[in-house]
Amino acid sequence: MQMMPKFFLHYFTRLMKLTIFLSFTFLYVSCTDKPIVPVQPESDKNIIILYTNDEHGWMEGSEGYGTAAELMGIWRETEGYSEDKDNYLILSGGDMWTGPAISTWFDGRSMVEVMNAMNYTAAAIGNHEFDFKIEGLKQRMAESSFPFLSANIREKSSGQIPEYIKPYIIKEVAGIKIGIIGLTTISTSFTTFPEYVKDYNFIDYAEALEEIVPQVKSDGAEILISIGHICSSDMTSLVPTASKLGISVIGGGHCNQLVASKSSDVALIQGGTRLENYAKLEIIYNSETKTVTELLPSIHDNIGGSPDAAVEAIVKYWRTQTDNALSEVIGYASTTIERYSREMWNMVIDSWFYTFPYADATMTNAGGIRQSIPAGDITLSTIVGLLPFNNSILQLELNGEELIDCINYDIIIGGITTVGGYNFADGTPIELQTNYSVFTIDYVYSIPEYKFSSYDTDPYTTSVHYRQPLIDWIKSLNTSSSDPLNNYLDSTPR
Ligand SMILES: [Zn+2]
Repeated sequence: MQMMPKFFLHYFTRLMKLTIFLSFTFLYVSCTDKPIVPVQPESDKNIIILYTNDEHGWMEGSEGYGTAAELMGIWRETEGYSEDKDNYLILSGGDMWTGPAISTWFDGRSMVEVMNAMNYTAAAIGNHEFDFKIEGLKQRMAESSFPFLSANIREKSSGQIPEYIKPYIIKEVAGIKIGIIGLTTISTSFTTFPEYVKDYNFIDYAEALEEIVPQVKSDGAEILISIGHICSSDMTSLVPTASKLGISVIGGGHCNQLVASKSSDVALIQGGTRLENYAKLEIIYNSETKTVTELLPSIHDNIGGSPDAAVEAIVKYWRTQTDNALSEVIGYASTTIERYSREMWNMVIDSWFYTFPYADATMTNAGGIRQSIPAGDITLSTIVGLLPFNNSILQLELNGEELIDCINYDIIIGGITTVGGYNFADGTPIELQTNYSVFTIDYVYSIPEYKFSSYDTDPYTTSVHYRQPLIDWIKSLNTSSSDPLNNYLDSTPR
């Protein structure tokens, strides 16, 4: 409330300046045809945020959208970005690297190099930043020229933020000190491999901000920005806290949404996923009144940019590395096998029987499947992008009742069906009190909601990576353009 008179005073001053300016303009226009560009008052500082999130290693672009190099081209050509300008912040909402083979095969190292070349200022730590263990995250941090931030991760043992994680930074742009604070989704304890983050608590966002903001302010921050790996519903819930603490911007991530809005005096931005889009926010800050006077959020597509040479060279280098490592052709698809299709789900889960023919049932989460198989040659690289996580297959012993209880909407099933009753593929009913050999992945097992761990507390670790059966099965079929993989797919509902 204290802000209001200053706000009005500022606008009144601007209105007066504009009136005077227009009077002169009118006189000027009457004797020339040249267009007039309004002049900003000296005290008004213009800060521009370019924001992406959930990049997931898509440096080569996803279908219909540009590459990382082209996005950089758009930022230069359309957004006026260049290294010598001091009023830009390039920010990420996290989940930078788990995805296609060009990133996942190298545990995200390639993606960090790309983002270094794109001059990112800072990134929030997303749940998938932990996919290659804490050691993997620390290595990426060491290679990165920008910090990874989170203010709501606490060590269970000490209650402190882990020493290797910065909760915030102060970055000076256009002569203004900006406090940038990171947040990590509280779902991280089960949306990355739970074992990797078992020593951490992910605390309430508002609580974390309340705790850290006084410190950020005492470090001299004039504008506060929260970049969070949090969905739009959480962003909206945070507005009252942000407004109270003087945070002007809430950046999001995790849910791959496009957000460009304002709520009270706070701007909310989130830029989609896979570098397909970006959010932009123009902040006008009056350095005399020390207030943010305007917030202009918008969303833009990564389409039509000229590739930035430096970024393009890095991607090319990693394409060669990927091809060298994973260029082996293992099969052929005549048409795209879609990520969200019965053919895909049945294929992935049925392939486990190739490796474990003695299994009674195979069960995993559909969420572990991350992309389609495009038509044409199928390379190892495609399968790494399809199943990019470091998951291993476990063997469990469950009775029929327990097995049935573990079937839920997100679980894809092999060897069994729920259509017209709970039966095995050959039509034999699942007996409630009979014990069966059931296979799943360690990730699914470690999530209590999937219930597997409550029924078998001592599963056998096969140490087989969850992508290996699919690779071996596809290879065994010797598919080709005359006998494509599509001939072997099953589209029946389970
Ligand atoms: Zn995420």
